[in-house]
Amino acid sequence: MANTISKPLSAFGPDFPFAYDDWLANNAGLGSIPADRQGTEVAVVGGGIGGLVAAHELMKLGLVPVVYESGRLGGRLRSQRFGAADDVIAELGGMRFPRSSTAFFHYVDMLGLSTRPFPNPLTPAAPTTVIDLGGVPLYAETLDDLPPLFREIAEAWDTALNEHADFADMRAAIDSRDANEVRRRWSALVERWDDRTFYDFVASSRSFSELSFRHREVFGQVGFGTGGWDSDFPNSMLEILRVVLCGFEDNQHLIVGGAEQVPRGLWSLQVDGQSLDSLHRGAPRPGVAAIRRAGDDTIDITDRNGVSQGYSAVLIATQSWLLTTSIDVDETLFSQDHWMALDRTRYMQSAKTFVMVDRPFWNDRDPVTGRPPLAMTLTDRNTRGTYLFDNGPDQPAVICLSYAWEADAAKVLTMSAHHRTRLAIETLKKIYPDTDLACHVIGEPITVSWESDPDFLGAFKGALPGHYRYNRRMYSHFMQDAFPSTQQGVFLAGDDVSWTPGWAEGAVQTALNAVWGIVHHFGGSTPVTNPGPGDVWAERAPVERPD
Ligand SMILES: Cc1cc2nc3c(=O)[nH]c(=O)nc-3n(C[C@H](O)[C@H](O)[C@H](O)COP(=O)(O)OP(=O)(O)OC[C@H]3O[C@@H](n4cnc5c(N)ncnc54)[C@H](O)[C@@H]3O)c2cc1C
Repeated sequence: MANTISKPLSAFGPDFPFAYDDWLANNAGLGSIPADRQGTEVAVVGGGIGGLVAAHELMKLGLVPVVYESGRLGGRLRSQRFGAADDVIAELGGMRFPRSSTAFFHYVDMLGLSTRPFPNPLTPAAPTTVIDLGGVPLYAETLDDLPPLFREIAEAWDTALNEHADFADMRAAIDSRDANEVRRRWSALVERWDDRTFYDFVASSRSFSELSFRHREVFGQVGFGTGGWDSDFPNSMLEILRVVLCGFEDNQHLIVGGAEQVPRGLWSLQVDGQSLDSLHRGAPRPGVAAIRRAGDDTIDITDRNGVSQGYSAVLIATQSWLLTTSIDVDETLFSQDHWMALDRTRYMQSAKTFVMVDRPFWNDRDPVTGRPPLAMTLTDRNTRGTYLFDNGPDQPAVICLSYAWEADAAKVLTMSAHHRTRLAIETLKKIYPDTDLACHVIGEPITVSWESDPDFLGAFKGALPGHYRYNRRMYSHFMQDAFPSTQQGVFLAGDDVSWTPGWAEGAVQTALNAVWGIVHHFGGSTPVTNPGPGDVWAERAPVERPD
């Protein structure tokens, strides 16, 4: 049944159309745990947003989450301060959050955090954009300021989505939260696009094939919405469709003061006189070294200091390759089909380099040309995306000199922060020859390559053609009734098992699935007036493809 009350566009599916925001907002709560299980400890491996959302909800349900974290709480929501400057930060992981991430924003709003539009290309939040391709910088405020080629590309993309991906009707079904219609239409798209890449979609579409190769190339370099998409060209087309259908490229906000405040806020948030922080006496347990079955109802967690503790339920919310590399996990805890899916997960690489500057000098204007000395920049050169973060007039500001993925991230993998900074400044000098960017830089640069961090091994999942079945196995893992008892009690959550990797919303939604799974595992239930994801699974489960 279509929802008749107008709701914001949300990530309502498309694979599993369930309104997580409504589930969270319902005063009846997420469920209840039998009295004899109240106060039971549950291990949560990984203190990113997925692990901490789950820990927060488990604590509210009367369980005692025990969070293990090998690095820094917050995981891939990491807001790093520049030296002594407390409020000047570099967003090393997630930095722009589509308003359609309504489960994620449930927590942002609950914590009272402020947000504002992210300075994306060609948006009012980035007053000027420069698109520099083939050595020619073009200044623009909106799409209309660019040569006709750009509008032709935008139109070809919209046409291709409608002609080959049922975009308008799919979007209408998601928007009206019509679960049956979403599922029916999406099932046909899964069948059609699971085996094919994003590039294949573009190249084989009627609208793009009527245009030149140059159109396709420029589309790859600048995309529409947030920047270049060619690093996603080898990915499964289904992954791209989820992004556009859920509106993830639109209406994105940054979190004032840093995205890390969301997981950290959950850590310190008081619920009935206690918080995760107080339960843990100020710090999570160390990183996990081993996860082993120790009895019918016991799974042992051994930390990196060799301390072991048994739990009836364990939630794992880390990068999935770690389960076969740095954590010694009992093979019997998962089926071979699940191991196949976890291990075949493919990760994207990503590098970002930031500098702090004395002031937002890009707000100056050249008296002759009226142009700014620097703008939000998309380029085919190695920096790819340059973003400007203004903290107010005459306040220290931040430049993300380079945000690059895949091959462009690999090119700088071995370079130090200074080397990357020099390279980026030299590149930007070619686009802005009259601007002395370096003279504005204060403090030390900050850089990250997620793939070189042993706790992450990559930025986020980027599913390849044919990976739908693997995604489905991982996502469905919280529904454990049909599993042999040796495989029950361990739950998966986070970006790596979600349908929408690279978006915090997926980490939150899968954490909520795991919470439902843990309540069910302990013999608890959800209120009849507020059914959870597992309660509607039979009618809404992601479509199965034959093995
Ligand atoms: C470069 C980049 C850009 C992104 N951009 C956006 C964006 O703009 N918008 C958006 O919505 N999302 C974005 N994302 C995605 C978003 O950041 C993630 O979806 C989300 O932060 C993932 O949360 P998680 O809890 O699943 O995993 P993580 O945050 O990775 O948490 C897992 C935790 O497990 C810990 N861990 C690892 N090994 C162990 C161990 N042995 N024992 C204990 N703990 C361990 C890790 O240290 C980590 O803290 C981006 C991510 C990256 C990397």
